[in-house]
Amino acid sequence: MENNSVIIIGAGFAGLSAGIYARMNGYSTQIFEMHDSPGGLCTAWKRKGYTIDGCIHWLAGSSPGSGMHRYWEEVGIAQGCEFINMDEYMRYESADGRTLILYTNVDKLEKHLLEFSPQDAIPIRDFIRGIRMCLNFDQPSESDPPLKRLQKRLKFGLILATKGREMRKWMNISGTEFFMRFKDPVLREALREMWVPEFSMFVMLFAFAYLHNRDAGYPIGGSLPMSLALARRYTSLGGVIHYDKQVKKILVEKDKAVGVRLEDGSEHRSGQVISAADGYATIFKMLEGKYADEKTREPYEKWQVFQPLLYVGLGVNRSFENEPRTVSGMSFPLRQPTEIGYAMRDRMPIHIYNQDSTLAPAGKTSLVVMMPSSYEYWKELAQNPEAYKEKKEQVAHTVVELLNQRFPGISQQVEMVDVATPLTFERYTGNWKGSFEGWLLTPQNSFTMMKRMSQTLPGLQNFYMCGQWVEPGGGLPTSVMSGRRLVKTLCKQDGKKFRTTVA
Ligand SMILES: Cc1cc2nc3c(=O)[nH]c(=O)nc-3n(C[C@H](O)[C@H](O)[C@H](O)COP(=O)(O)OP(=O)(O)OC[C@H]3O[C@@H](n4cnc5c(N)ncnc54)[C@H](O)[C@@H]3O)c2cc1C
Repeated sequence: MENNSVIIIGAGFAGLSAGIYARMNGYSTQIFEMHDSPGGLCTAWKRKGYTIDGCIHWLAGSSPGSGMHRYWEEVGIAQGCEFINMDEYMRYESADGRTLILYTNVDKLEKHLLEFSPQDAIPIRDFIRGIRMCLNFDQPSESDPPLKRLQKRLKFGLILATKGREMRKWMNISGTEFFMRFKDPVLREALREMWVPEFSMFVMLFAFAYLHNRDAGYPIGGSLPMSLALARRYTSLGGVIHYDKQVKKILVEKDKAVGVRLEDGSEHRSGQVISAADGYATIFKMLEGKYADEKTREPYEKWQVFQPLLYVGLGVNRSFENEPRTVSGMSFPLRQPTEIGYAMRDRMPIHIYNQDSTLAPAGKTSLVVMMPSSYEYWKELAQNPEAYKEKKEQVAHTVVELLNQRFPGISQQVEMVDVATPLTFERYTGNWKGSFEGWLLTPQNSFTMMKRMSQTLPGLQNFYMCGQWVEPGGGLPTSVMSGRRLVKTLCKQDGKKFRTTVA
């Protein structure tokens, strides 16, 4: 490298991770972050004494025994963090009075599904077999002692050799296609609602394997403490973060990135530039599309993104102690289809954060209603700020009234309602179309699980990308690993041995 300095755009998990590993390896780094706090999408906000958590449901690698855990130790999240594992992923109450529970334990899940719908024994057993196949899939970690790493590599190779065909089968089928195999319409619909149906089934199997292994825990305190821990780790290693500094342009000279220009017009130069910000803004705005060949453009033209959210946080003066603790909440049928936001809905999802008393005053509870929404709808509505505000108020009112159907009396106990739209996500994190996790990992792009997306752009030197826009499927572990992978590449280019430490 001509110059040891690195500028990183964005202090989300990927940017902070890149910063942390770059500091561990002797690079001089500064991060420019447009928001006033770290974490990007992994955040939370306070309203009237309640914390609305904007992100974490589960963190893969939470178990000290898993290969991924060392990464959380390196970036300073595992230390002092209490993870809890829940027995239920989600509950679905049907209009015909049945309750489907997606248990996190695979044996319990199998038993329950078979009891729920005996006629679907064949696809249920297929699904469960798929999860069991993923249970022993602990990836080799660089932190493992050499012998353990070798053992894991051999085991991994063996799994690939013996199960390769089956894995490909699951990668090539979406949830939508697989769920069609179930005859019971309630089971079919429940699975569609409880999971991202466009996802490759392989992702679902993996997720349930992590849950079964109690390696996808929820961190008490939620998202923001994790982001603050990450930022602390970065600054304790000597890294610098400039908050409230939006990058407008990546400076390029003779096809080499040489620095950035901020919104305030100031210019900052460095040997390398890493964008850990939104992919679309990076490629098509900060770099004006000059380094976007056909392959680079393809995802932005053809791939699907995680649908943006209408995200309603509620503070309720009720303990919900008798309700089950779940990873992703529950959903119940409405008495009649009702318009919420732009869409008619006949069901309502609700996530009760009764597993985390730190998010609400004593005896009270923080709740979230999270619904897929339309970016275009809210964007158009926001042309008229009054109409946008009015609609948000209407959503708040409707949600509270509808919750009364399932939890009578709740409307009298609601002390706070906060509505975030896809535009809120866009405003605070810059993510394209308000998407909350980047690219969906579908059968169409599941090859990226084996062959990764590029972290560079054709024809542009000294420039790199990391984070959810170059890692289909997104998520916090992926973003951290993306920053790590990138710094490893930098070290290799510079002929350095890549080093990591644990705080
Ligand atoms: C509701 C919800 C639930 C989720 N649940 C989970 C979960 O349970 N488990 C899990 O692993 N993941 C979950 N995720 C996904 C996870 O939060 C994201 O995939 C991850 O945080 C992405 O990190 P990132 O660093 O790649 O991107 P981001 O978090 O988007 O970070 C990008 C950063 O760049 C900054 N930025 C953008 N443009 C500029 C600019 N021009 N100049 C300066 N700074 C800029 C942004 O402000 C931001 O801080 C969830 C997300 C949401 C919203």
